Amino acid sequence: MTGAARGIGAAVAKRLAADGLAVAVLDLDETACTEAVTAITDAGGSAIAVGADVSDEAAVAAAVDRVATELGAPTVLINNAGILRDNLLFKMSVDDWDKVLGVHLRGAFLMSRATQKHMVDARWGRIVNLSSTSALGNRGQANYSAAKAGMQGFTKTLAIELGPFGVTANAIAPGFIETDMTAATAARIGVPFEEFIAARAAETPVRRGGTPADIANAASFFVGEAAGFVSGQVLYVAGGPTD
Ligand code: NAP
Repeated sequence: MTGAARGIGAAVAKRLAADGLAVAVLDLDETACTEAVTAITDAGGSAIAVGADVSDEAAVAAAVDRVATELGAPTVLINNAGILRDNLLFKMSVDDWDKVLGVHLRGAFLMSRATQKHMVDARWGRIVNLSSTSALGNRGQANYSAAKAGMQGFTKTLAIELGPFGVTANAIAPGFIETDMTAATAARIGVPFEEFIAARAAETPVRRGGTPADIANAASFFVGEAAGFVSGQVLYVAGGPTD
């Protein structure tokens, strides 16, 4: 479970642990994972903290080896680690472009490539990738929307290539979810987070902002045995239709 120290990742990690999985809480900073790991173990679950940059090939290989040794072969992967570097195209630096594509797309590629071997050997696996409604286009997010649309194509190809080995791949595309990431967006544009949430809720058919638990519910479904015939799909979890 990548990017699992906080936000959506931490909620999904806790939910999958409650579903009975042993969870590797992987994030950039291993110590930042302690809170999620403690919450899982205090609730009777099993988890370890793993520090790794998902865009670093060697770090990913070492992290996946460590997970296999300490928890057993990883047969479930949630590619959730993410960053924002929003800017209008004419102001977007090459570094902003490369960093965002690097964490989301290169990171998901490296993590999927490193873990698929374990899934293929087990003839069972689940990969869930975090896309976004931004995949449909969003002002100020040329890098992020390209990465999140890329996650959808990547997911469908994994579904085709790995399906014969009992591995499904699906994507969750959240709309607005209340996390540090969206709090940072509100801060960047100078709007108090509560106001920002209220504005997003007003334009959402179900009239509320999304929560990490909404995404954890979808992830729990895709990972579960009951979703074995669901693969290559993109589930928008956005409180309403998206297009
Ligand atoms: P968040 O609160 O910012 O958490 C993201 C986590 O990913 C952080 O713990 C971050 O670590 C970690 N991370 C960043 N770069 C990493 C790297 N190279 N290697 C490993 N971990 C890394 O974000 P969130 O809102 O929970 O979002 C989670 C995912 O959902 C992201 O893929 C995001 O794009 C997607 N999403 C979110 C929303 C939303 O409204 N929140 C909507 C659609 C999609 P640091 O704290 O050290 O940076």
